[in-house]
Amino acid sequence: LVHLKSLTLKGFKSFASATTLRFEPGITCVVGPNGSGKSNVVDALTWVMGEQGAKALRGGKMADVIFAGTSGRAPLGRAEVTLTIDNSDGALPIEYSEVSVTRRMFRDGAGEYEINGTPCRLLDVQELLSDSGIGREMHVIVGQGRLSTILESRPEERRAFIEEAAGVLKHRRRREKAARK
Ligand code: ATP
Ligand code: MG
Repeated sequence: LVHLKSLTLKGFKSFASATTLRFEPGITCVVGPNGSGKSNVVDALTWVMGEQGAKALRGGKMADVIFAGTSGRAPLGRAEVTLTIDNSDGALPIEYSEVSVTRRMFRDGAGEYEINGTPCRLLDVQELLSDSGIGREMHVIVGQGRLSTILESRPEERRAFIEEAAGVLKHRRRREKAARK
């Protein structure tokens, strides 16, 4: 199983100064008052793994992830998040026992990705994480309010959710595509 070691946020949402969270094996709890940035930490995790939708990140546009400034602090020009993953068991298809994925974004919307400090494409990040169980389509991140959405959904919607979690939906989509040919 893949283990997340640390997450560093720099200019990401409310985290203007570089902030590193270290995750020990086991359960990590992030606590704090309303608006203190707990959900922003989760957003950073989804974002660094390649999330492309501003809505999924609770913003109107992608550049909203960049620190927008406060009364005492000027806005920043870029957001940067680095996720370090323990790969000592070789779960990720890369020859390193520790893997760092970095995503950076500038105000003009330009962005870049790095794996262990080497520039790469979004596709490389997606492929690196796709079978690890932490890719963006995996249901390992359950956002605020998401549980009630699932519990209150119609049976067919709930079925789609379970199928996606079980990895069935991918095959259903492929079958439908093949049938159309
Ligand atoms: P709750 O307990 O209510 O869920 P939370 O700890 O999850 O709160 P977040 O939603 O993570 O809080 O943080 C919200 C705060 O982040 C708001 O104060 C908001 O102004 C700030 N914020 C969001 N985006 C930016 C940004 N781009 N620049 C600066 N601050 C931002
Ligand atoms: Mg929250």
